[in-house]
Amino acid sequence: MKLAYYIKKNSLKDDIRVSRLLDTLRDGGCLLYDVLSRDGLEDGTEALLSIGGDGTFLSAARVAAPAGVPVLGVQLGRLGFLSENSPEQVAEALLAGTYEVELRSLLMVRPECGLPRGMSPFALNEFSVTRISASMLGVDVTVGDNDLPTYWADGLLVATSTGSTAYALSAGGPICTPDTSLHIIAPVSPHNLNLRPLIVPKEAPVTVVPHSRDGMVNLSIDNSSFRVPSGTRIEVSEAPFPLKRIKLGNSSFFDALRTRLLWGADVRNNNGN
Ligand code: NAP
Repeated sequence: MKLAYYIKKNSLKDDIRVSRLLDTLRDGGCLLYDVLSRDGLEDGTEALLSIGGDGTFLSAARVAAPAGVPVLGVQLGRLGFLSENSPEQVAEALLAGTYEVELRSLLMVRPECGLPRGMSPFALNEFSVTRISASMLGVDVTVGDNDLPTYWADGLLVATSTGSTAYALSAGGPICTPDTSLHIIAPVSPHNLNLRPLIVPKEAPVTVVPHSRDGMVNLSIDNSSFRVPSGTRIEVSEAPFPLKRIKLGNSSFFDALRTRLLWGADVRNNNGN
């Protein structure tokens, strides 16, 4: 089996847990090479191991998704919601061939000013515009042919169902199971009493135009960002291909909610009443 691996954090490159995992896979007959960018992916690669946390997984997804290579997260980071498997679980499942591939939809983000050289337009979690100075933004949003009310806020995001447990969660959005076909449009700290996160079908094209009195706005695509002029028109749609994510047999979205985000944690649940 030919496998690529992606490590973002320098301190992990010499980590004993990583060398043990790579040695176990090599001893089991796998051919391994490290990759840092899309151009480095070799033909015939069957999976990309993302070694780190969820931040690393977002970057690994950008490398692998356009080539249709599935990504398997090895959890050596902090939260590990997307990247939930221990090195031991990964080695065992890959060598035994006991894993599944699930599809996660991606966003494609097209600002009219274009993207900086080398920046990917694809987001697994979300696209956002946020303020860069003291003044709030006014954000005009269109869904299909429908104009939404202007959002007066620190920012606004459009998230995938995968991103519902990331930034969108902090913006008061709903938690969505990863197989749901939707996008979440949510303001960040809105100065409106009556604007709520909105769910739209993922097929609906969304246009976002942020306005700032300071002239510039921050635009983020997952963990990358740059500044665009106020008034820039940004088109957000579903990407033409999904991310393939490798899921091990013991993986459950609801268990991840409980163990990683302490979903429903309540002292009353532990006293037998
Ligand atoms: P970061 O701010 O250093 O870390 C973001 C945190 O979110 C990490 O703990 C990460 O897990 C976790 N995370 C990432 N994707 C997740 C997902 N789909 N479900 C649950 N948790 C997730 O930033 P980063 O590591 O560069 O990641 C960029 C992401 O940070 C963005 O896509 C955005 O969603 C999120 N973010 C959130 C806020 C907020 O909530 N106020 C603000 C800015 C950005 P690990 O610890 O395993 O890496």
